[in-house]
Order: sequence, then C-alpha cells, then structure tokens
Amino acid sequence: MPIHEKSLIRPENIRTHENLTIDGVDVSGHWSTFIESRVVTDYNEALEDEIAALPGGEHIHRCWQCGSCTNSCTVHAIEPRFNPRYWIYLIRVGMESELLRDKDLIWQCVSCNKCTYACPRDVVPEGVMKATAHWLELKGHTPESPSTTFDKIFTDEVVQYGKIEDTKVLATFLKKTKQPLLQDWLKQIVWNIGMRLPVKWGLKSMWAMVFHPRTRGWDKARAAIGDYIIEKEAEHKAALGLDKPKAANGNQPPQRKLHAAE
Ligand code: SF4
Ligand code: SF4
Repeated sequence: MPIHEKSLIRPENIRTHENLTIDGVDVSGHWSTFIESRVVTDYNEALEDEIAALPGGEHIHRCWQCGSCTNSCTVHAIEPRFNPRYWIYLIRVGMESELLRDKDLIWQCVSCNKCTYACPRDVVPEGVMKATAHWLELKGHTPESPSTTFDKIFTDEVVQYGKIEDTKVLATFLKKTKQPLLQDWLKQIVWNIGMRLPVKWGLKSMWAMVFHPRTRGWDKARAAIGDYIIEKEAEHKAALGLDKPKAANGNQPPQRKLHAAE
C-alpha cells in the first residue's frame, strides 16, 4: 500500500479552481485542490528482480514501507526529494518511468548506512540505493558516476597486483575523471601532514608509481578473482536482459579492461 506524502506530488499534477461552488458551498482556491489522476501503463514487472540481482539489492523484497530509512537519511535531511522508502516502493511495483524521474538524485546516497541501522526488516536500504544506481548506469540511464569509476580502479588494482598503491589509485582516478592533479583538498591534506611525512614514504610512493610492487605468488589468485568478476558481471547483465549468460551461449563474455594495466 503506498504512502502518500505531500512532497511526492508533482506540482504539475495539482489542480485548483479559482471559482468553484459545489452544492452551494464555495470551495474556490485552496479548498478545491485535487491531485490529477493518471493511468500508468508502462510497468516493468521484472524491475524488483533486476535490482535484487545486483549486489546490495538482494533483500528489497523484505520492505514493509515503514519509512524509517527515509526518516533517518542524511541526504533526505537536506534534500526532501531524496526518498529511499519511495524508490523501494516504485521498484517493487515496477514503476520504472516514475523511478527514472529521480535518476539524478538516487546516486547522491553517501553510503552513511544510517538507513541500514534504522531498518527493522534488514532490507539494507544503502545496498538497495547502490544497486539502483548501478542499475541506472548499466541500463544507460545515467553516465558512469565518479564513485563507480573509483570502485573499478580500486578493484582492478587489487586484482592486478594483490596490493594497493594509494598514490597510483588517486592519480589514476583523477586522470580518468578529468580532474587536475593538484586539488585544493589534496594540497590541504599534504600541507597538514606534510611535515610529518617521512622522506622514505615519498620516495617509496614515487618508486611504486613506476615499478608497481606485486604480491608474491599472486598469479593464481589473480586469475581466480578475475574469472569470478567476469562471471558475476555477465550474470548481472543477463539479469537485466543486457547480455546472454555465459552458460547459455557457451561463449566467454568479453574481458573487462583493467584500468591499472592501461
Ligand atoms: S546510506 Fe544513503 S540512503 Fe541510507 S541514510 Fe545514508 S545517504 Fe540515506
Ligand atoms: S526502513 Fe526498511 S522496511 Fe522500512 S521503508 Fe525503509 S527499507 Fe522498508
């Protein structure tokens, strides 16, 4: 059962009459406010299954629409249109076009997990928000977000080398997202801790940028993790109807290009 919130009614769907009299009673202006009725015909009946097939969305079916996630949400406190409870409702009833109207808001989740701790049904709304943002990207409704770009660079670094070089991850991220290397916040961090950074650390970081160290005996683990990632990505695409699963056509899906190797 939907919960109707005033903030969810789009201004274009509100109707009032300047002059309206019903049974001799003047109900003009505010008293004659109606919500325009509409018929939704483009349901995506697979929408809940599609979100549930992506990491984080697995427990969306448990939601009983109590609203605790939205009430506790960090972003909702400053942007009332950011409403996890409402989006979970739209997903569960398959109202894809309605969900797409908020596609530029959904990715703004800051992963604070307040909603996850408030949820009485263990839906993990933070995971659902992440899965929904991922779904929007995979379906081509939104461009790849900087957050997804960072996740890919970080993952590729681990898979390739079995260890992380912070400076390389950061430099690759800034380059990929077309941001200048010398960010103000970065300068501030360097300034704040600069005097305490050992020279040895700086030299080691510069060395690692050129000759990336690798975990000894990592090759087998790298191959196994790489295969697993490819398998999972193929599964996700198949669940969204974007690709055929490996088992169905017998072909190996194309390898995802590793940023770290570029
Ligand atoms: S994790 Fe996202 S949806 Fe949950 S409370 Fe934080 S900002 Fe809101
Ligand atoms: S707190 Fe949990 S059960 Fe309640 S509306 Fe949010 S996701 Fe659904």
